[in-house]
Amino acid sequence: MPNYLAFASDNYAGVCPEAWQAMAEANTGFVSSYGDDPWTAQACSLIRDTFETDCQVFFVFNGTAANSLALASLCQSYHSVICHELAHIETDECGAPEFFSNGTKILTAPGAEGKLDLAAVEQLITRRSDIHYPKPRVLCLTQATELGTVYTPAEVDAAGAFARQHGLRLQMDGARFANAVASLGCHPGDITWRAGVDLLCFGGAKNGMAVGEAVVFFKKELAEEFDYRCKQAGQLASKMRFLAAPWSGMLQNNAWIKRATHANRCAQTLADQLRAIPQVELMFPVQANAVFVSMPQALIDSLHRLGWHFYSFIGAGGARLMCSWATEESYIEALVSDISELSGHSC
Ligand SMILES: *Cc1c(COP(=O)(O)O)cnc(C)c1O
Repeated sequence: MPNYLAFASDNYAGVCPEAWQAMAEANTGFVSSYGDDPWTAQACSLIRDTFETDCQVFFVFNGTAANSLALASLCQSYHSVICHELAHIETDECGAPEFFSNGTKILTAPGAEGKLDLAAVEQLITRRSDIHYPKPRVLCLTQATELGTVYTPAEVDAAGAFARQHGLRLQMDGARFANAVASLGCHPGDITWRAGVDLLCFGGAKNGMAVGEAVVFFKKELAEEFDYRCKQAGQLASKMRFLAAPWSGMLQNNAWIKRATHANRCAQTLADQLRAIPQVELMFPVQANAVFVSMPQALIDSLHRLGWHFYSFIGAGGARLMCSWATEESYIEALVSDISELSGHSC
């Protein structure tokens, strides 16, 4: 039977061997709790090495918590956060950023292919400067974006310069940061702190870990009292070593990049094969591990009836097909073969 769940999301995949192995290695004896342990120290140190800067790191359970607590730490309740209209913090976090910041307002701006249009952002934040409008405080970029595209280093640089010019902090939602770095082949510092990113929510789960994201403060002074914020929000793991150790497993030997490269390559393969089917249209450039296609609704319905799971929440007729570290070539063949057969085109 085909692996019908394989393309629904990258978080449908299990734990990759490097992360699993590191968790098993941490499972010996007694160590201090709440992060005061050698596994956590090692993971933080490897993140500093990876970015080549002396950043402050916190591990939390998921991306919603990472984004929400990060934004809350950068804002007062009367501030606003500017993000893309399709950003996860706006559409998929159930109001958690507003909740944890006691009411900070999210303002959205448009932009092609999931990337913020800085001219539109400028309009949004300069059209008002009176006391009745929530004061713009943070610019948020999602890297890779919700539409599977990737901001280039030059684009992040431009966002950094824009943020500096307007007195905004720059936060990056990096739930798929590994896919972005793998896609660009750049140094992770080049699309973060060197480009002016103040804070990165570095995703672990979609890269192949069981659980956990790292909140990385590139300006240490911004991290003051963040530990209390995590604790109050229920995001301080008592057995922190198991949240931290997988990071060491992924960062050593570059496994985080290898796993993301595989996912990206699978998305390329899938896109290349779908491109050949007349009824299927690629909606956005495939730069990370997502393939968005538009197909006739009847075709989508038939695929769902066969058992294929995928989400189609972007526009009418759009379907999101996600690849992960665990995607195999045979899964791609099975999906493409079903789509091809259903669309009356045989390859
Ligand atoms: C998955 C995802 C997150 C994190 O979601 P959680 O389910 O809270 O871990 C954050 N941002 C983006 C863009 C995502 O795709």
